[in-house]
Amino acid sequence: MNLNHQVTTSKGDSYCLEAMRTREHSTPTKKPTSPKPENAITIAVSSRVLFNMDVEQQIFEQKGMEEYLKYQVDHETELFKPGPAFSFIKALEAVNAQLRDLYPESEELFDVVLMTNNHAHVGVRLINSINHYKLFIERFCMTGGNSPIGYLKAYHTNLYLSADSMKVREAIEEGIAAATMFTSEKVTQVSETQLRVAFDGDAVLFSDESERIYKTQGLDKFFEHEKAHENKPLDHGPLKGFLEVLGKLQRKFYAKGHRMDCPIRTYLVTARSAASSGSRALKTLRAWGLETDEALFLAGAPKGPMLAKIKPHIFFDDQMFHIEGAAELGTVAAHVPYGIAQKLPPKKTKDAKETDSPSK
Ligand SMILES: [Mg+2]
Repeated sequence: MNLNHQVTTSKGDSYCLEAMRTREHSTPTKKPTSPKPENAITIAVSSRVLFNMDVEQQIFEQKGMEEYLKYQVDHETELFKPGPAFSFIKALEAVNAQLRDLYPESEELFDVVLMTNNHAHVGVRLINSINHYKLFIERFCMTGGNSPIGYLKAYHTNLYLSADSMKVREAIEEGIAAATMFTSEKVTQVSETQLRVAFDGDAVLFSDESERIYKTQGLDKFFEHEKAHENKPLDHGPLKGFLEVLGKLQRKFYAKGHRMDCPIRTYLVTARSAASSGSRALKTLRAWGLETDEALFLAGAPKGPMLAKIKPHIFFDDQMFHIEGAAELGTVAAHVPYGIAQKLPPKKTKDAKETDSPSK
């Protein structure tokens, strides 16, 4: 592989690489070229969510940067194991393959950018692993510890996934859809041909305006408020834009007769109940011209068991107890650090979790 197209920033210590392996070398199987960022649906992932780097991270935290780099170089020929975003990224590629079949000329495809603060020495091991798993990741940004925000904007990023919650927060504050991912021992097998994405409603697709009423004034006031404002669409939340681009791609499949077997399926999984507060959620989506394929109103029931049935590649929620509940049952869950729930003290005990669980 030939790495070129190096871009040096004004600071000079961070750069992006594009692996031009397809354009300059003929390969036995023709690989597609990367779409232009302005046409693509860009998903930026950090190396620690694409791959499991727990051992390496521990070395970094306990022994420092020099030992960490030495370990990475010493293990350069060893492959990384898949991380929490791995299956999601593979599923994006499966969707891309089907889009390319239906629309050979279109650049409306997913494009994955590896956004890492790793040192260039680690790049070789990352490239080896990416090639081994046959991931189509042509763009690398090695930010050298700098904020990734500038790069995320330059690539018109539609979703940023990272293990670093501070960077995720920063991205959300800049209006970029983002979520924190965690390595989990137990992960359910997911579809290799259909991408499934599940979203919480309040403070994920929607703003946290109703969640604030619930958290500060209680359930009864929440119901009253939602009834009174049933026909007023909620403001958008940090992940609305991502649902929107998934919908755009879904319509491309529908246009070619693939509605029932569409390779993208979306889900709303909310603690709202259908009867009392669900209609405002549905009416909001409709007012936006968006829909999810399925909408599950759990009325406060735990989300984990339902998600275990859906088997999404990723589930987004703003509340850690839903993330933990989903992860315990094998769902890859990503935390959206946005809204009123982030300001409340974390609930540690089982009892606290139950009393905190919204039965709206
Ligand atoms: Mg929520």
